[in-house]
Order: sequence, then structure tokens, then C-alpha cells
Amino acid sequence: MSETYELHCRQCGRHLGNAPVAMCDECIAPLEVAFDLASLRGRLTREKIAERPESLWRYRELLPIPADARPDLPVGFTPLLDSPRLAGRLGLSRLQVKNDAVCLPSLSFKDRVVAVALERARAFGLHVVGCASTGNLANAVAAQAARAGMEAWVFVPAGIEPTKIVASAVYGARVVPINGSYDQVNRLCSLVADQFRWGLVNVNLRPYYAEGSKTVAFEIAEQLGWRLPDNVVVPMAGGALISRMRKGFSELAAVGLVEPKPVKFFGAQATGCSPISTAVKQGLKFPEPQKPHTICHSLAIGNPADGHEAIDTIVSTGGWAEDISDEEIIAGMQLLAETEGIFTETAGGVTVGVAQKLIAQGRIGPDETTVLAITGNGLKTTEALAGRTQLLPVVEPRLAAFEALLAGVGVPVATR
Ligand SMILES: *Cc1c(COP(=O)(O)O)cnc(C)c1O
Ligand SMILES: [Zn+2]
Repeated sequence: MSETYELHCRQCGRHLGNAPVAMCDECIAPLEVAFDLASLRGRLTREKIAERPESLWRYRELLPIPADARPDLPVGFTPLLDSPRLAGRLGLSRLQVKNDAVCLPSLSFKDRVVAVALERARAFGLHVVGCASTGNLANAVAAQAARAGMEAWVFVPAGIEPTKIVASAVYGARVVPINGSYDQVNRLCSLVADQFRWGLVNVNLRPYYAEGSKTVAFEIAEQLGWRLPDNVVVPMAGGALISRMRKGFSELAAVGLVEPKPVKFFGAQATGCSPISTAVKQGLKFPEPQKPHTICHSLAIGNPADGHEAIDTIVSTGGWAEDISDEEIIAGMQLLAETEGIFTETAGGVTVGVAQKLIAQGRIGPDETTVLAITGNGLKTTEALAGRTQLLPVVEPRLAAFEALLAGVGVPVATR
């Protein structure tokens, strides 16, 4: 290999060099990026990583970007927070939250995958980039393309949250609302990528895009003191995040940055779009496509591109998958906000609510090290909470009026 990585088909084992393609043309399986890990052993050390700026680029040798690329946008390296109040409410002795609600620049974990995909697009000489998106990905592509001086076209289902449309269009990206489901948008994008030779990050650049997900795993390991957790609970849409987090942990072990250790992967979906969790519960190897109907638009992918890989990740690590109702999603968002001061979008509500369910099922033990992947910011999906938060009545600006209000609502008040 001229680079230290190249595309690889896990199905037939062929190596295919580097090109903007997502599928093996022999077996129609999704391609993956394989690294020459042996060449990195002992060369990429904890000390070397620690000296670098706090962003996902500190792991650059394990990302499929050109060897001489030195991107400077501070994407990733989000907080891993001890979350004792949430742990207590869930009946655990400890719990960690990986908070990508504050991932820069666009406040979701999608900034990670886009950062890697745009470096790759540049290396391939593709100057127009884009994506098929349920919202967060469009935001990330639009923001990062603006800074990179690239033209961006983002395709979204017409029904997504208005905030997510504004948060793409503001960067000057062309936002194309499609009268159809995400899966229809995705099929259209495959045709567009071929026809115009554009770099559509989750379509023809998908294997490279997916590698950005590994950085969540790299950071969790480093932030735990170069140790692996016992369990991770991860929201699933197309299935790239969960499957590439596993790849990330095993690459760290292969290059000698952590001791190898089994990590159980737990996948989380909304019941209204649960092709992967349903397949896990039914013992299927491939998901059966669904027509999504849930408030959690960011996870509403009915025909997940990495569905088989996600199922394999969950089953082969001894984890499990669950799904919850829209009501439970909202309760999960509120629980995280009230206990840990983190306002997450609906996908984070899915993670918290599913974790609660898995704990009740006895699948996650109280004294194990468990990390919840919180992947997006609540300010983007405030619609989900419409009518759910309580405002007190308007009060005249007088002390007596405020005291009357207190008497009226019967709130016990601490006084001096
Ligand atoms: C896209 C997305 C996910 C899931 O990502 P996949 O890699 O497609 O499974 C999770 N959370 C949020 C907020 C997302 O936008
Ligand atoms: Zn193949």
C-alpha cells in the first residue's frame, strides 16, 4: 500500500486501494477501511498523543487522511463526565456520559465523520461535497464545507425539524428538501454522486466517513486513563457509529495503546424506527427495512447501510439492543437534563431511556464501567418538548405578587 490504509471487503477479503466507492462490486457488501496496524505498533504512543491538541486529529495515524494532512479545526475531544446523579437514578454505582452534545463545530457527533470525509474528499480532488441527511449530518457538512471553501449540497427529507434546516442553510449550503423518506433521499444521492462526481460523505465516501466514528472510542479509552469500559450504550441510525466504535477499541489494542478487553456493545433505537434492535431481538443477521414513524428524526433510518455490521457488533460482544417509545424518549431527555445538566436531542433521550431498560433487564450490572454515548444537542429539537416544560404564570414585578404566586402554587420555599 502507498498509504497505511485502504478499502477492504470483509465479505470476500479483497483489498481495493483508495477510491470514492462504498460497496464491493462483487458481493454488494459495504466496504471498510483496513489499516496496517503492525506498522503503527510502538510508533504511536500515549505520550505522543498527549502532546497534541485536544481534538480528534490527535489520533491522525489511525484516520484515513493523507499522511501529510494537518487539519486544524478542533473537532471532537468532548467531555467524558462522571455522572453520579444519573447513575443513582438508574440504580448504578457509577456511570459516564460521553457528551457529544457539545461537539464542535455543529453540536453533534456527525462533526467527527464529516471532518474525516472532507479531508478524504480533498485528497480525491472532489470539490463539491454533500450528503443525504436527517439533519445533523447536513449541519456538519454545511459548516465544515464553508470553512474548507468547498461547495455543499445537502439533501434532506422535507419533514425534518426546521431548526436543522436553518442550521444548514445559514452556512451557504444548498439545502434540497426531498418529498420522501430518508431512504428515498439516500437512493437519490447515490445517483447524484455517480452523475456529477460529487463527494457525498455518507454515500460514495461512506467507508471513510464511518472511520470518523472510531474517534468516540479512542477518546473514551484515553479519558478513562487508556482503559476500555465494560459496556457502551450507543444510539443507532445507519449503524456506523456502533460498529466503528468496536473497530476503534480493537485498533487501540492492536497498536498497543490499551490492554485488550471485552467491551459489550448495547444498541439503542426508537421503537418507531427499530430495524436493528428488532433484528437483534429476533436473532436475524440482517435488518428488515421499516417505514419510520418517530419524533427521533436523527435515528430514523429504515434501511440502515451498516445494519449487518451493527447487529454483528452487538451479538458478538455479548451485548443487546432495545428500543423505546416516543414518550420514553422525552422522559430520557428530561432525566439527563435534570440530573446532569445536559440538554440532549431526541437521540440522547433514546440512549438514556434504553440504558434504563437494559439495567431493569439485568443486562448492565450496577458496578460495571458503563459509558452512554450522548450524540446531539437538545437545542436542535426543541419541538420534541413543546408543551412538556412548565412555565409559571406571569407575575407583576412586586414582592407581594411573587409571594401570592408561591402561596398559590404551594411550592415549599427555603427562606433566610
Ligand atoms: C447519525 C446520528 C446517530 C447514529 O449514527 P449512525 O452512525 O448512522 O448509526 C446517533 N445520534 C445522532 C444525534 C445522530 O445524528
Ligand atoms: Zn467483496
